[in-house]
Amino acid sequence: MTAERIDGRLRAKELDSRVTEGVSAFSEKVGRVPGLAAVLVGTDAASQIYVRNKVKRTKSVGMLSFEHVLPETTTESDLLSLVDDLNADPRVDGILVQLPLPGQIRAERVTSAVSPEKDVDGFHIVNVGAVASGVGGLVPCTPLGCLILAAPFFGGDFAGVESVVVGRSNIVGRPMANLLLARRATVTVVHSATRDVASHVRGADLVVVAAGSAGLVRGDWVGEGAVVIDVGINRLADGKVVGDVNFEEVSGVARALTPVPGGVGPMTIGCLLLNTLTAALRREGLGDPDIGLGI
Ligand code: NAD
Repeated sequence: MTAERIDGRLRAKELDSRVTEGVSAFSEKVGRVPGLAAVLVGTDAASQIYVRNKVKRTKSVGMLSFEHVLPETTTESDLLSLVDDLNADPRVDGILVQLPLPGQIRAERVTSAVSPEKDVDGFHIVNVGAVASGVGGLVPCTPLGCLILAAPFFGGDFAGVESVVVGRSNIVGRPMANLLLARRATVTVVHSATRDVASHVRGADLVVVAAGSAGLVRGDWVGEGAVVIDVGINRLADGKVVGDVNFEEVSGVARALTPVPGGVGPMTIGCLLLNTLTAALRREGLGDPDIGLGI
């Protein structure tokens, strides 16, 4: 078997065009466009690239982008006061504070200061609780992207799908497991203390890997015909970026597999924009976007 290579760039383009249509419909109804504020503290090179890409994509779907770049020496109280201003700004529907933050700022203080209604990263405890209880909230972008990528392979219905999530982080693994559980999948979460990770992975119809360990998942770990979503981003010594899955080996057994780069990564920003549209619609009492993502 040669696995279908799931084209995350293409799927993200489709998602962006649906969001663009949603933005037009929103602006016709409400008389303004949704706005996303991006806050970057310091000069971390990777964070600068992420924020630049997010700003570019925000503008490309027709939303307003508010960019705030603060110096490395910014105090926690200065950052919290900017977050307060953005919470109160009616033009701003979504707020993202790029992580990591410099050492003098406690990330959890900042995350919990963002209004849950504008928390388009889905990191506020109110949204974490809502997603864990399966009652909505704003969903973290990366697991939402994984769900959208996987959905067509199960006809949009995860009920009874044997799913294994590798990793239990708050940003990816846990919310991924909760999203699948809410859709009645059978979910196993494995992590660094799991005795035999491979034996769990082998029985899965759907494997989502977010471990941060290059090439961790080998071909003989994966069951014939499984759908494998690789979240990992690992930079090797030679500068090459690879995922957590051994692409060549797993391609020989899986039904479908995401590449790295070009798989989950592009979907993450797409879902940030989708969440901003969702937040804007909810703030205006217009419900959730209906853009047919099959989830
Ligand atoms: P994390 O370090 O917070 O969590 C990693 C998890 O994997 C932990 O729960 C750990 O127990 C588990 N783990 C580590 N090694 C393991 C092993 N050998 N076997 C089983 N489990 C193991 O990481 P994270 O924030 O969840 O990110 C995971 C990866 O996904 C990283 O490579 C990160 O760069 C990438 N990532 C990508 C995107 C994207 O947009 N594509 C977004 C977020 C994270």
